[in-house]
Amino acid sequence: MSDKRETLGFQTEVRQLLQLMIHSLYSNKEIFLRELISNASDAADKLRFEALANPELLADDTDLGISIEVDKEARTLSVVDNGIGMSRDELIDNLGTIAKSGTAEFLQQMTGDKKHDAHLIGQFGVGFYSAFIVADKVSVETRRAGLGVDAAVRWESAGEGEFTIENIEREDRGTRVTLHLKEDESEFAESFRIESLIRKYSDHIGFPVSLTAIGEEDAETKVVNSATALWTRSRSDVTEDEYKEFYKHLSHDFTDPLTWSHNRVEGKREYTSLLYIPGAAPFDMWNREVPRGLKLYVQRVFIMDDAEQFLPLYLRFVKGVVDSSDLPLNISRELLQQNPDLAAMRGALTRRVLDMLKKVAGDKDSYQKFWGEFGQVLKEGFVEDHANKDKLAKLLRFATTHNGNDTQDQSLDDYLQRAKEGQEKIYYILAENYATAVASPHIEQLRSRGIEVLLLTDRIDAWLTDSLTEFEGKALVDVAREALHIPEEGDEKAQDKLNDEHKSLLEKIQGALSERVEAVNVSRRLVDSPACVVASDQDLNPQVRRMLEASGQELPDSKPILEINVEHPLMTRLSGEADDGRFGALSNIVLDHALLAEGSQLANPAEYVRRMNDFLLNSGDGADSESS
Ligand code: ADP
Repeated sequence: MSDKRETLGFQTEVRQLLQLMIHSLYSNKEIFLRELISNASDAADKLRFEALANPELLADDTDLGISIEVDKEARTLSVVDNGIGMSRDELIDNLGTIAKSGTAEFLQQMTGDKKHDAHLIGQFGVGFYSAFIVADKVSVETRRAGLGVDAAVRWESAGEGEFTIENIEREDRGTRVTLHLKEDESEFAESFRIESLIRKYSDHIGFPVSLTAIGEEDAETKVVNSATALWTRSRSDVTEDEYKEFYKHLSHDFTDPLTWSHNRVEGKREYTSLLYIPGAAPFDMWNREVPRGLKLYVQRVFIMDDAEQFLPLYLRFVKGVVDSSDLPLNISRELLQQNPDLAAMRGALTRRVLDMLKKVAGDKDSYQKFWGEFGQVLKEGFVEDHANKDKLAKLLRFATTHNGNDTQDQSLDDYLQRAKEGQEKIYYILAENYATAVASPHIEQLRSRGIEVLLLTDRIDAWLTDSLTEFEGKALVDVAREALHIPEEGDEKAQDKLNDEHKSLLEKIQGALSERVEAVNVSRRLVDSPACVVASDQDLNPQVRRMLEASGQELPDSKPILEINVEHPLMTRLSGEADDGRFGALSNIVLDHALLAEGSQLANPAEYVRRMNDFLLNSGDGADSESS
């Protein structure tokens, strides 16, 4: 360890973040205070936790708290805590780098548009660096609890690429963050301004936050907040704004939460939970490795961040606090995992979140906002959480043929309400995208009869439909499967009858395409298109097959079933075609087009182009007269 002053460079990501934050959060600048007080409160929480096992860390300074000092003359504001503090190495790591994975990619999404960027930074969480929105120099003096007076360190930076660090002597344990305010930010050295900000943002902090105005006449130090942890208060005593501020403190998000649920459970297991659904998805929601979970307290003592044991992975976007009266204070992650109460608490908290979502779903606009941000993870949940399948099924939203656009806003209940009389099935199509789904030949017959089809175009939908096979006693049916029974269709033998009627045409096409198709049937699902391909009930859905193949999986070859629309002029033409060569070419083209229409790739595109070119050259007059 060196005593001398060292100058170190910020990690590139920190430098970028600082730049962006200063420019895009300017209209929101007062949030820096909330961030610094949150950090101070976390530091006090951490010390109290470490002191459970190691009481001498507290020494004779046992009253944990936060003080804010403003000095108008010097234009400074300091946030001082007697919490855990930082060692030299911790300081360099914590205030010189960003450890969140995916940060570089995240920062690339910034556009320079202030509103857009402010929204993105909100998803990222701001934290300590927000000090540089109002300060042109920040100094941090800190001493780690348990380390000697001479192990204290000072960090200083103007927020422009580098910081200095040097060892100092410091009597007090904990951290002092001093902001040298920019010339036009002197309002933040005014005690009345800061007092109102503390009330607004930090009232709910579980430690006293006091304010001292240095140099002011009759200056006195007074505690400004109510200093009771918010979740310990009764619901009726907490205002909406207080709940919102507490969320921002917890999450470092600065957009409002969508909703929350605050409950005390009494009886065999006693605990309080306060759970929030954020308004926007965090930037790293798709990284399943990112720390997630609730803040765990035991009898008001902070125990750990990111206790992921209390909720299933798919609810990783939920933020909040659990405060248990029964868990032992010395509980570790491992012990928590084995705790016999955990499963019951996890089950109850999961249901609580789903009930909260059910409530949100009562308001269509709010729920659409939620679905837009988190719908995909909820679909994951449906696949993973069998115990709550029924609740989750009601929370799913889909784009359907009813909409006329790709908005996912129809529930399965909505679908059933519109179902035709006697309709025993819920129909869906899986496709690469909305355009392919909605124009798919497979749904023509259903559409022409006014039967609604769910249009499933998210990657996860293939897995979703594996688990979502039934809703309210109605089976979900893939329209691209061989056995599609459309209501009012008559008996199931209809297929055989139809095939019999067109036996010679079917056999001839089958002969021409024997290498490429399993069978040829007369279709009952087509109206405008000449043909489509379907999968037999044992085969993979073509969309699933395409996805698995794209991910490099080797799958056994399987041939589709070709269905033809015998009403279509192309089929009339085909049945009248006497030339075997042309019959074969046309049959292949019909099949190629059916594959293209469902979004499949042709195995041999060059051959298709050659065949098509030949066909165009050789069928001038004939083709015209057929189609006119
Ligand atoms: P976050 O709080 O979201 O982790 P910050 O950038 O605000 O991000 O802070 C980075 C880290 O610096 C914190 O996680 C914490 O370890 C450390 N830190 C910040 N302020 C303090 C403080 N007052 N006392 C002790 N550690 C702190």
